[in-house]
Amino acid sequence: MKTDYLIVGAGYAGSVCARVLADAGKTVHLIDKRPHIGGNAYDQRDAHGVLIHPYGPHIFHTNAKKVFEFLSRFTTWRFYEHRVLAKVGEQLLPIPINRTTINQLYGLSLTEDEVQGYLETVREPRDPLQTSEDVVLNSVGPDLCDKFFRGYTKKQWGLDLSQLSAGVAARIPTRSNDDDRYFGDSFQFMPAEGYTRMFERLLDHPGITVRTGVDFKEVRDQFPGAHIIYTGPIDAYFDHCHGALPYRSLSFAHEHLPDTAQFQQVGTVNYPNDHEFTRITEFKHLTGETHAGTSIVREYPQAEGDPYYPVPRPENEALFKKYEAMAEQARGVTFVGRLAQYRYYNMDQIVAAALKTAQDLLGGAAA
Ligand code: FAD
Ligand code: UDP
Repeated sequence: MKTDYLIVGAGYAGSVCARVLADAGKTVHLIDKRPHIGGNAYDQRDAHGVLIHPYGPHIFHTNAKKVFEFLSRFTTWRFYEHRVLAKVGEQLLPIPINRTTINQLYGLSLTEDEVQGYLETVREPRDPLQTSEDVVLNSVGPDLCDKFFRGYTKKQWGLDLSQLSAGVAARIPTRSNDDDRYFGDSFQFMPAEGYTRMFERLLDHPGITVRTGVDFKEVRDQFPGAHIIYTGPIDAYFDHCHGALPYRSLSFAHEHLPDTAQFQQVGTVNYPNDHEFTRITEFKHLTGETHAGTSIVREYPQAEGDPYYPVPRPENEALFKKYEAMAEQARGVTFVGRLAQYRYYNMDQIVAAALKTAQDLLGGAAA
């Protein structure tokens, strides 16, 4: 049977495109070089039966009703609002910074209005907000910046806050109230049976053939006439002809603690200042599972390894633009996804981008 689309990458970008195209009657061949579907959102049971996220903690949150409704065709949900504490000195304090953070850190008992007033006295107004340093100093000033952001950012990116575009730190709001949720979105849920199960249902369609453990370079000439949707790193597609785009990688140190029912009081604890890892996540909080023991993961940032994050800064954007210009000229191939678009996108943003891409390919008729 003729293949209409060869899709490279079985993460959100590739899998959502595959489903929308298949629903519209197209035949799709979806490959991934990894031995599984789901991309970085893949989850699995560890040797102790605990559902874990091998590529780091994934918490679904969105304001996009369309995205939530689309995924709801393939999963039911468990309500979950993520909470994060940051270890500063001996204290565990809410991050994003809120009223509790300020009061506990400085031994104060400020009201909400007084916290706003306090932040006014310590912030360093910056205009325009170009770098992540501008963003943080503009909202909370140097002391809170040093305690919560500078060290974490240096570890996570290998760069100073001043070397990163504003959007990186702007992911983290500052609050004067007691809201201690990590995300403020209107939909905050985890797929009730996990991400992998959701992807299995997403890809369960007679028009979709899935092959894992297959690299694009092995099959790129095997589907003459098929339109390619490429969701991997864009510089790799073009053989790095303009030079390698920087990506940040992580090493994940997973651990099971058989005799510990609960390791920490919230899903994630950030370590902005000490240790080589940035954060520890305990999966039971995210999934709501009950087990006698518990499984945790520490994230160690590194320059080498699988590409996980684009690195948002002007010189990288300039290099990306060269690849983007090639992508716009290329015939028979469409680029979508976090690595293909070199954008620091969350899961829901990738779903939205993939829905739009598939719809555009269908001439605006579907999705
Ligand atoms: P990917 O999931 O990376 O999928 C691309 C796929 O393409 C990969 O599986 C790869 O193997 C495959 N591929 C690449 N090249 C080839 C090739 N040559 N041949 C075959 N296959 C190839 N988002 C949230 O919304 N909430 C979170 O809490 C959250 N936490 C995160 C934590 C971490 C540590 C990381 C790294 C990301 C997190 N994200 C989170 C972001 C989320 O992972 C991404 O937005 C999403 O997975 C991107 O989907 P994608 O399809 O673009 O890319
Ligand atoms: N950040 C920080 N301290 C924190 C949390 C975040 O400095 O306690 C900064 C850091 O630069 C980080 C960015 O904000 O990379 C975005 O954080 P987020 O938790 O969104 O990162 P992700 O979950 O995508 O790794």
